[in-house]
Amino acid sequence: NKQVIFKDYVPGVLKESDMYITTSTIKLKVPEDCTNGVLVKNLYLSCDPYMRNRMRNFQGSYISPLKPGSPISGRGVAKVLDSRHPDYKKGDFIWGMTGWEEYSLITATETLFKIHDKDVPLSYYIGILGMPGLTAYAGFYEICSPKKGEFVFISAASGAVGQLVGQFAKLLGCYVVGSAGSKDKVDLLKNKFGFDDAFNYKEELDLDAALKRYFPDGIDIYFENVGGKMLDAVVLNMRVRGRISVCGMVSQYNLEQPEGVHNLMHLVPKRIHMEGFLVHDFFHLFPKYLDMVLPYIKQGKIVYVEDIAEGLENAPAALTGLFAGRNIGKQVVAVSHE
Ligand code: NDP
Repeated sequence: NKQVIFKDYVPGVLKESDMYITTSTIKLKVPEDCTNGVLVKNLYLSCDPYMRNRMRNFQGSYISPLKPGSPISGRGVAKVLDSRHPDYKKGDFIWGMTGWEEYSLITATETLFKIHDKDVPLSYYIGILGMPGLTAYAGFYEICSPKKGEFVFISAASGAVGQLVGQFAKLLGCYVVGSAGSKDKVDLLKNKFGFDDAFNYKEELDLDAALKRYFPDGIDIYFENVGGKMLDAVVLNMRVRGRISVCGMVSQYNLEQPEGVHNLMHLVPKRIHMEGFLVHDFFHLFPKYLDMVLPYIKQGKIVYVEDIAEGLENAPAALTGLFAGRNIGKQVVAVSHE
């Protein structure tokens, strides 16, 4: 059983060498004393920015740190090979928390979902039909209270979450601009996802001036994925009673000391509502979300771009690549295609 092991807690920038590949043996049967255990073959693994924060020895978080010397845990799509759980049988496809390894014995089965609709790529269940999809949905509709015609700005806009927020906002009739870190990503935002406009933030010396160019009348909704300097510039450009949905701050995850944000006093006179959220609080909306998004996917009204790294041995590079912006779209690792 090939595995990706997390070496030890990581200060500063996450590197590929903070993980290593090893091989162990595993019996492809659920042990008799493992009530409710499910043995799976992992097909697709998700690389998510929050995983870096589990590589710190920080106990106060909403999610526990990874255990040094153990396989990395994360969301994946898998096929059931053997089961002692009444809800899962051999041959079922599932998604949920699994391990960065070829085969996993899953005992925390409350995190698993059975896959019923297989007309779409299975990898979508760790992207548009999984946690990032629900994040975009809850973070936009529940946190931002969006209305037709509003001006929406999204950072890390071509990523797993951002590309969906932009498409949801366009379907609602908003004016949507995204920022991303390369020309290819900007082209994708404008030509594939239908954003009204987009810019490469790395080419802008003055982010405040860039935002004034794209939003001369200001921003109603900011979907925050990056934090730091971008947040500082956005606050200056928000309209009165604007909403900021704080989904994440990926620019800060590899820093030992988070950057200071200086312009928050503007929230007061502009009466801005700024709210952080965790997707975990919105899993009850999952059925409603799937009812909305599956038809959109099948009708081609929403598209989803994935960046698929082939093979478990490429998983460390895929994960570290998130923080260098190497992924174009949702970063997935294909362990096996069936
Ligand atoms: P992405 O697919 O967007 O990948 C991360 C992207 O972040 C990179 O491709 C890169 O894009 C950008 N990035 C990396 N480093 C920096 C930096 N220093 N400055 C600016 N941009 C940077 O990831 P996701 O869509 O999965 O996640 C997006 C955000 O949503 C993250 O902050 C994540 O933590 C958060 N999240 C929050 C959840 C919640 O429950 N609140 C759930 C899921 C995700 P580029 O090339 O454009 O710079």
